[in-house]
Amino acid sequence: MAGKKALIVYAHQEPKSMNGSYKAVAVEELSKQGCSVTVSDLYEMQFEPRSTRKDIIGELYNPEQLNYGVEAFEAYKNGCLSEDLKEEHRKVIEAELVIFQFPLYWYSMPAILKGWMDRVLVQGFAFNIPKGSGSGLLKNKKALLSFTTGGNQAMYTKEGISGDISYVLWPMQFGILQFCGFDVLAPQICFAPEYAPLEERRQMLTSWEKRLKTIWEEKPIPCILE
Ligand SMILES: Cc1cc2nc3c(=O)[nH]c(=O)nc-3n(C[C@H](O)[C@H](O)[C@H](O)COP(=O)(O)OP(=O)(O)OC[C@H]3O[C@@H](n4cnc5c(N)ncnc54)[C@H](O)[C@@H]3O)c2cc1C
Repeated sequence: MAGKKALIVYAHQEPKSMNGSYKAVAVEELSKQGCSVTVSDLYEMQFEPRSTRKDIIGELYNPEQLNYGVEAFEAYKNGCLSEDLKEEHRKVIEAELVIFQFPLYWYSMPAILKGWMDRVLVQGFAFNIPKGSGSGLLKNKKALLSFTTGGNQAMYTKEGISGDISYVLWPMQFGILQFCGFDVLAPQICFAPEYAPLEERRQMLTSWEKRLKTIWEEKPIPCILE
């Protein structure tokens, strides 16, 4: 799949972590295929997760009362968003595959990654207000959540104490990615690496590497709540 472009939005503080290894495997395997791989290493970049007035350069559309969503939409249309957001937009536009790599925090993504979603996926760029169906603007792009958990797989079943993993996936896959028009690929979930023996951890990384070899052929999954 030479020539394909992938973006990895990576949210972990420690390169030696399991998330760091997942990211490294993806960079290595996709590069080996001849893909061009860009990484947004959010902690390393000290990515600003807060949606504030500073995201809009110059005059506000309504200086009387800040409505962040409206202001971000207007600023996007007028090319007045802050430089860090324009840079992330360029990366997303180029990418045909976006992998989000993160540890599960409070049944969701870490704040720094949520902040990326809040600030980067602005109206006009990622979606428009729904008129009927199909509000997403990031069409013909695949997106995949790759994350690690503290709880094990049995915990994340309907009978398990954490509830089915599909409840965790729903807001992220349906509420964000599919809403923005992405073709959502099956998630890559690394359950409880902290409690897995070394050989099992290696095996998890090997199966990720193996999956990546045919990732471009994968079809999107339906983002439904089971
Ligand atoms: C604020 C917060 C909220 C959380 N909320 C939740 C929650 O809601 N639900 C939940 O389930 N969990 C939760 N957790 C737990 C969290 O999801 C896990 O701690 C995290 O996913 C583990 O991933 P890691 O990359 O940090 O693991 P690490 O601890 O970095 O990695 C696990 C082990 O793998 C080793 N390793 C790294 N690379 C390799 C390699 N190449 N080969 C072999 N071994 C390797 C590491 O050295 C380490 O020993 C939460 C944690 C925090 C801090």
